Amino acid sequence: MSLPKRYLITSALPYANGLKHVGHLAGAYIPADIYARYLRAQKRDVVFVCGSDEHGTAIPIQATKEGTTPRAIIDKYHAAMKQDFEDLSMSFDIYHRTSEPIHHETAQEFFTYLNDRGELEIKETEQYFDEEANSFLADRYIKGTCPNCGSDRAFGDQCETCGRTLSPDELINPVSTLSGKTPVKKKTSHWYLPLGKHEQFLREWILEQHKDDWRPTVIGQCKSWIDGGLQSRAVTRDLDWGIKVPVAGADGKMLYVWFDAPIGYVSATKQWALDNKKEWEPYWYDKDTKLVHFIGKDNIVFHCIIFPLMLKLHGNILPENVPANEFLNLEGDKMSTSRNWKLDMRDYINDFVKQENGGTQCVDMLRYYLTQIAPETKDSEFMWKGFQDAVNSELVSIFGNFVNRTWVLMHKLCGGKVPRLHEELLDDTDRGLVEDIRLARKKIEGLLEEYKFREALFEVIDLSRKGNQYMQKKEPWIVAKQLATNPDAQKSIDNSLHLCLQLTANLAILINPFLPNTARKMLHMMKVVEKMLDWENAGKMNLLSVGYVLREPQLLFRKIEDTEIAAQIEKLKSGLTKMEEPKKEEVKPEVPAKAEIQFDDFAKIDLKIGTILTAEKVEKADKLLKLSIDLGTETRTIVSGIALHFAPEEIVGKQVTVVTNLAPRKMRGIESNGMILMAEDKAGKLHFVQPGSMIDAGSSVS
Ligand SMILES: [Zn+2]
Repeated sequence: MSLPKRYLITSALPYANGLKHVGHLAGAYIPADIYARYLRAQKRDVVFVCGSDEHGTAIPIQATKEGTTPRAIIDKYHAAMKQDFEDLSMSFDIYHRTSEPIHHETAQEFFTYLNDRGELEIKETEQYFDEEANSFLADRYIKGTCPNCGSDRAFGDQCETCGRTLSPDELINPVSTLSGKTPVKKKTSHWYLPLGKHEQFLREWILEQHKDDWRPTVIGQCKSWIDGGLQSRAVTRDLDWGIKVPVAGADGKMLYVWFDAPIGYVSATKQWALDNKKEWEPYWYDKDTKLVHFIGKDNIVFHCIIFPLMLKLHGNILPENVPANEFLNLEGDKMSTSRNWKLDMRDYINDFVKQENGGTQCVDMLRYYLTQIAPETKDSEFMWKGFQDAVNSELVSIFGNFVNRTWVLMHKLCGGKVPRLHEELLDDTDRGLVEDIRLARKKIEGLLEEYKFREALFEVIDLSRKGNQYMQKKEPWIVAKQLATNPDAQKSIDNSLHLCLQLTANLAILINPFLPNTARKMLHMMKVVEKMLDWENAGKMNLLSVGYVLREPQLLFRKIEDTEIAAQIEKLKSGLTKMEEPKKEEVKPEVPAKAEIQFDDFAKIDLKIGTILTAEKVEKADKLLKLSIDLGTETRTIVSGIALHFAPEEIVGKQVTVVTNLAPRKMRGIESNGMILMAEDKAGKLHFVQPGSMIDAGSSVS
């Protein structure tokens, strides 16, 4: 089979209503990134697109929750998600957003194209309408009693208590969340995509053509959708946030977010082409393009049935594959944002990557573990202990150890240079290692082409394990003791280290799609340029030239300590929000004790006594006060979440304890430089932690 001319890779557009957790990362982003990096190393023509999904009801709902505008919400979360992806070395060619004009135009053109050709149908239905707010109500804006469990906290689309999917008509005593009034039924018309008309095409294309190359779980879900009867799906809705329906007289109607979001891949490609002076059309129209969508399993129906149908009707190419991942659970339970049982990418970045002993090695450690447990065929589990084991007993003890040993011995026994190979002395063990390297490349390549990323990564680690075994057999440090007596001793040492060095260069190439930062660190140690990472070099045994002087070894990975794991588990458990607890009578639980720390950990915190000089409310943030605090030698601005507990005027002049070396943090646009310590009593009232009497501002606390 000949190779496609070009590749277009997409990762599911994350919804811009909150930070994303590592389950998302494992599902739709890391696998896509590995694939894109592999293809680039193969020098194939590849564009990798992603962006924020910024429409739909969840955006205005989040805005109400945060007391701000939808625009502010998407700006905030778009920027945050973009930053998180960058911090975790995602290599999108573009990270776009669906609020851009180019996307609105593209989505509207799609709609018009289908509508003009009679591919959409118009239907009149009755929907709930809030007369006071003069607005049709999206499902999420209707609250009522759940017909299933009787909870009065059910929404028009789902009951938050029992989890059952609902339609607004099923709710008992529906109430509008906009006005609190009972909504009325009102007639409205909308455009629909008649999926049923295309059942034959979908059956053939998915269940026949792709039955062997798509993942069984993907085929299974598609089959049950098609067999269950394909209903027409509304393409438009009554809402005031989104992309306007480009038809005269359709005021107040927007494209449904499921319709506009996947078109975001197209508009992102257009923007990428504009930015890079390329043509975008071949990526979406030329049959020689291989389109691959990386998603989580909750997106299968959209990416395998609905969007492909839209693409077909619009004259575009269809996806070649949709390697959807299953879900990633966390410490034995489903990840959930509402219950706060999750690990946000941002939390990992702050707790590991941004720490003094962190950096890009911690990025690669997470990428490693998430690939190793990737839920490719079934749900899998993120366990902190598993993370620690993966890092300590695989990355550190196998891969890192092999590279480090090679370097240390090369410096000790070969003068820090690549030793020459004495062909006449090569034995079967040497030849076996060369063969292992050649085979590993083939295997890894085959697995990556089939989207089997966890197996491919296993093969890379396994090759470094073989390196360790080889070293163990050859024992150059023992041979070194015979240097005075055995004339071939140095030659034997040269041979083993020559081969181990070439293996290290190969490992850099093979690990690069998975752990790009590690590969670059290895390049630095080898003093070679990035070009060496080209995939065509894998399997070669002359990557490092004889006599070439190499750098000192650097540790590739640090160990993860027990205390770090304990602290994460503690943090997870103490942050858990219980859904069923009535908020008001809530009795404050005793704050659970945190994991034991060493004195050195405590000594890292710089505490000082400060005096509050000014205090003012922060606009549009009812919990925040902006304080300026005298610390003796300087005045600091600190934003503190205490506005509900203290009036600004009553705290001016008070002394407080300040953590002065906390990394600055922006809150509501104000940079906060430090944190004030507070004590919370049983009744939930806050108190400053103060010295017994007024002392000099800037006095240190230890
Ligand atoms: Zn219920």
